[in-house]
Amino acid sequence: MRILVIEDHQDIAASIYDYLEELGYVMDAAGDGVTGLHLAVANNYDVIILDLGLPGIDGIDLCRRLRQDAKSTTPVLMLTARDSLESKLAGFDSGADDYLVKPFALQELAARVKVLTERVTRAPASRLQVGDLTLDAEAHEVRRAGQRIELNPTAFRLLTYLMQNTHRLVKRDELENAVWNDDPPDSDALRTHLSNLRQAVDKPFAHPLLHTVRGFGYRLTEHADD
Ligand code: CA
Repeated sequence: MRILVIEDHQDIAASIYDYLEELGYVMDAAGDGVTGLHLAVANNYDVIILDLGLPGIDGIDLCRRLRQDAKSTTPVLMLTARDSLESKLAGFDSGADDYLVKPFALQELAARVKVLTERVTRAPASRLQVGDLTLDAEAHEVRRAGQRIELNPTAFRLLTYLMQNTHRLVKRDELENAVWNDDPPDSDALRTHLSNLRQAVDKPFAHPLLHTVRGFGYRLTEHADD
């Protein structure tokens, strides 16, 4: 597993580098955005750890260029010192998969990196699970806390996609694309189907799994404030 750290703060970069190298990852590092982008495009990494505030090209811009210009799908874990919703959303909007707010524990960083690498290597599973919610794609069966939940085909596709991407926020247009291939029936269709999905999956239970991030998208997780 090969990891690129793009971080201009030398002490933070060094501690990440050493900690992950100790865990067996092959590490590369860049101290500015231009070098980081160059390395990210030139090599194949399993995860890129990307600081938000960088000299040269900042993290948001770098991530956007990586996704849009270089068509890279390498998972990006964004590091941010700004614990504001705006910077997180800007990070996700640029194509980051996850974020961590500084200061963070290295164990936490390693855990997030592991999740992102598993997402890459994991074969598409026919059985998905988030908390007490399970979805069996082959049997076309959804259960929560053992109770069978009936869903129409659209809600089933929505739920499948959200469960496959439980580690991150999913944008509205991405969700529409996943379900209707860029051709949503109308602008309110997604909202309606999600509302039905919420009724079926969350309403009868104590803990909601489907979370709305207003103006941005959705996340299906048992960790509400994650
Ligand atoms: Ca920085």
